[in-house]
Amino acid sequence: MNDDRYDQDATSGDMPPAPLIEDSTPPAKAHADIFFAAVKTTRMPMIVTDPAREDNPIIFCNAAFERMSGYQQAEIVGRNCRFLQGPETDKAVIDQVRQAVARREELAVDILNYRKNGSTFWNALFVSPVFGKNGDLLYYFGSQLDISRRKEAEEALHQAQKMEAVGKLTGGIAHDFNNLLQVILGYVDMLESRIDEDNRIARRAVDAIGTAANRGAQLTQQLLAFARKQELRDRLLNLNTLISDFEAVVERNIGDGVRLRREFSDDLWNCRIDPVQAEMALLNILSNARDAMDGDGEVVIATQNVVGNEDGMPSDLSSGEYVRLTVTDNGPGIDEAVADKLFDPFFSTKEVGKGTGLGLSMVYGFMRQSGGLVTAETMPDGGARFALYFPRARGIIEPTREAQDHTVGGGEHILMVEDQPQVAEMGQALLEDLGYSVVHVASASRALDLLRDRSDFKLLFTDIVMPGGMSGVALAQMVREEYPKLPILLTTGYSDRALDEDSRAFELVRKPYRRADLAQKIRQLIDGPTGVS
Ligand code: ADP
Repeated sequence: MNDDRYDQDATSGDMPPAPLIEDSTPPAKAHADIFFAAVKTTRMPMIVTDPAREDNPIIFCNAAFERMSGYQQAEIVGRNCRFLQGPETDKAVIDQVRQAVARREELAVDILNYRKNGSTFWNALFVSPVFGKNGDLLYYFGSQLDISRRKEAEEALHQAQKMEAVGKLTGGIAHDFNNLLQVILGYVDMLESRIDEDNRIARRAVDAIGTAANRGAQLTQQLLAFARKQELRDRLLNLNTLISDFEAVVERNIGDGVRLRREFSDDLWNCRIDPVQAEMALLNILSNARDAMDGDGEVVIATQNVVGNEDGMPSDLSSGEYVRLTVTDNGPGIDEAVADKLFDPFFSTKEVGKGTGLGLSMVYGFMRQSGGLVTAETMPDGGARFALYFPRARGIIEPTREAQDHTVGGGEHILMVEDQPQVAEMGQALLEDLGYSVVHVASASRALDLLRDRSDFKLLFTDIVMPGGMSGVALAQMVREEYPKLPILLTTGYSDRALDEDSRAFELVRKPYRRADLAQKIRQLIDGPTGVS
């Protein structure tokens, strides 16, 4: 390039000879040489364009710019910068840059650019006009910086903060709803056994209330799961077995048009998770796959052992060993525009009445609470793939105890601790209806007093979360210490990290509990050996 405004051959790529600096104020030429050498060697990508030429072509780029863009100098010089743009570059930002150039103004923007190999990167672009002595516009100077990592970190943080805030709100609401539903469902169960066969209107009404309340309870569970406030009962298990055992339910739920293919790893590691919630998560993902494929297509369920920090693993997965469960469908894949909202509660693209938008948020919360992660992506050939990473757990899987079938009480005394008056009233009525004799107290300290006075209790049934004073778990620990033979049953609909770990040493029934669950648990505990599940 021979241009009298510019006395170096910018396109040659050679370093200019080191300027001779003889005096403390270098002459203008030496000054320019030093400056030019610095621009060529700096790690900051830089270009210069010539607005006097048609289409404002690049007339200089440094080596850092070549590295950032993946193009060689010869492919860059002479072209307008737009070769860095692509279909996902924001048009409004491009317009901003154009306007700044037209108005001879400087501008700083973050713009999505494309490398030569087609991959994208976030570019912090600063463009500024360079004027000559008499105010003529000589060049445009553009400095750039690949800020993809920062952008990704910002987006991940933003997403995490959003999920945290929404989680707090949903967790609080769901906790209160759970108690209300517990009251409704408890009385529905009691009414059901008392309504005359021929009173059809009353029977239908009670059935309808039960169905609606049950649906409410399911939604509440999903909200609690999203908020990571669900009481999880982890068990050491193998996902291959869990999925195989669950397959009949899956097939019934996803319909005939969907073909299921299994690709299980033979030597799959074990993990410690709540099997009921894991099945629920899988069912949610499979139902979505069915809907995405309009009920007709193929789903591949695959399991594999993976290591956290290896190539191809999600960047937010901590190092360590994981069992990965993937569900891949051949539907249309995940729309780019909705990808970052997929796991939000109440986000659904399904028509009103079809989607609640809680399926994937349940999966998200459950995976986080289980120490793992869920990711969603569109496959190169179009379908969607959900991957669930469960931390590996060591140990030997023990067979589960068979449930006993006789479930009614024989007048045994139960000490019930519950601070919510309505839940207490309902629980007491339900237990009495089952044939137990119940003494209710509203606090842990009252329970301890009573246990000191009376020795005829056959079971302690206590809520975990109680305001002020001692929690149900602390009570259970004290009781186990002082009265090791007394069986203990905890109940809660809400999980609290601090209480969770300690509560695992006891049997638990989740709120809202149904008559049959409670009946079975209590009978098992009173009849069988006390202890850990
Ligand atoms: P819902 O199923 O009630 O809509 P979800 O939270 O389960 O709620 O899913 C949220 C949204 O995620 C769906 O409405 C859909 O737009 C998208 N989605 C989920 N699974 C898939 C899939 N396999 N393929 C394409 N889009 C999906």
